[in-house]
Amino acid sequence: MYKDKKVFILGMARSGYEVAKLLRKYTDKILITDCKPQNEEHVKELQALGIQYVLTDKPEEILDDSFEIMVKNPGVNYRKPCVQKAKKLKIPVVNEVEVTYNLLPENVKIIAITGSNGKTTTTTLIYELLRHAGKKVHLGGNVGIPASKVLEEIKKGDILVLEISSHQLQDFINFRPHIAIMTNLSEVHLDFFETYENYKSYKKRIFDNQTEDDIAILNYDDSDVLEVSKKIKAQKLYFSTNEVQDIYLSDGKIYYHNREVITTDEIRLKGKHNYENAMCAIAAVKQFNVTNEVIKEVLNSFCGVEHRLEFVTKINDRSFYNDSKATNVKSTIIAVSSFKDPIILLLGGLDRGHSFEELTPYLNNVKQIICYGETKNRIKEYADKIGIDCIVLDTLEEATKGAYNLSSEGDIILLSPACASWDQYDSFEDRGEDFKRIINELNQ
Ligand code: ADP
Repeated sequence: MYKDKKVFILGMARSGYEVAKLLRKYTDKILITDCKPQNEEHVKELQALGIQYVLTDKPEEILDDSFEIMVKNPGVNYRKPCVQKAKKLKIPVVNEVEVTYNLLPENVKIIAITGSNGKTTTTTLIYELLRHAGKKVHLGGNVGIPASKVLEEIKKGDILVLEISSHQLQDFINFRPHIAIMTNLSEVHLDFFETYENYKSYKKRIFDNQTEDDIAILNYDDSDVLEVSKKIKAQKLYFSTNEVQDIYLSDGKIYYHNREVITTDEIRLKGKHNYENAMCAIAAVKQFNVTNEVIKEVLNSFCGVEHRLEFVTKINDRSFYNDSKATNVKSTIIAVSSFKDPIILLLGGLDRGHSFEELTPYLNNVKQIICYGETKNRIKEYADKIGIDCIVLDTLEEATKGAYNLSSEGDIILLSPACASWDQYDSFEDRGEDFKRIINELNQ
């Protein structure tokens, strides 16, 4: 399919680098371009393979109709002049997942997970469940592992679990998952997609190539998911926390086709949202005959993906949770709603001028707020207004130590900051790592 094709790779980063190496096995006519300087080692390696690397912020100037395919990095906006030019020149625009898909060995089963929230958790859970069940399974996609990187390891008949972002859904042509999962839909990424309607129309594409032989696992409680999946061809499996469906939660138990699989007490991850993620994962792996024993074993020990309501440790009967990924109020609502025990909540970070008011109905078991960072004074004002005790400190380190000093046995100490990290950290990952380092020091 790609033999001797002239390929234009728009945007390098990790996935561009991996797909360039992959395509080099089929063609020596590859150009890769980016507007920012890239990892030098990677550039040298590609150049040594005869791949042309061009650093430019006007890639459209080097694109002409001699190119036969464009592999676009999902982060590059489709409104950019270079993408528009490719479309005008009728050059097919795809992404590296599509390229990988077209090069897969025969009979590989694909499970693709998309949605606005819960993708990484669900994807990782499915992978862990299948791995523990002894299946030959591979993990890739938006989880930070380019699909093109794992292609080499995939053999005939294996299973490939892929997290698929809305950005990746723009540039598929043949991609057809055997099992497609849509966790939920909400208004996110509107800076990129402009309108919610537009965003939903891209999300819907996950089902476009599916046939009656395929399966779609869908959130019955989400009217937008129901709307976008109305006319799909795949067999539908619904999950619900409200009513009896193919898989559902009732009285603290999860049932699949009316048979009990697991109780929520046996699931280490907490919160309704995580039970939804667990239901998606169970419905998916049931298609591969994974037993309830394996499901129980994995869900009992799975602490979550790093920085997403991740259980860190218990010190003197205080439980620490790292939810550094909660960079907005909505995510913090989900986090605080996940616990019944008293919470000391660490809030703060970059000030985008956003309001914290929306949190109010969910703070019943928050006994203390500790705020820090750029937003600390606004959070203090808010906490005073709603009558929750609040201490103002400067850094996460002070806040964590302060929380520990004020805590009692049985308390939850939760970092779910409702703000981006960039006032004091490079990323939410760095912030979460730092939080864990500080906790580790408390433990010594
Ligand atoms: P994504 O990969 O879609 O960003 P993650 O699994 O990384 O999702 O979870 C990110 C955050 O989204 C979590 O910390 C939690 O606040 C929230 N979340 C996770 N699962 C769900 C869900 N099923 N519904 C709503 N929110 C969720």
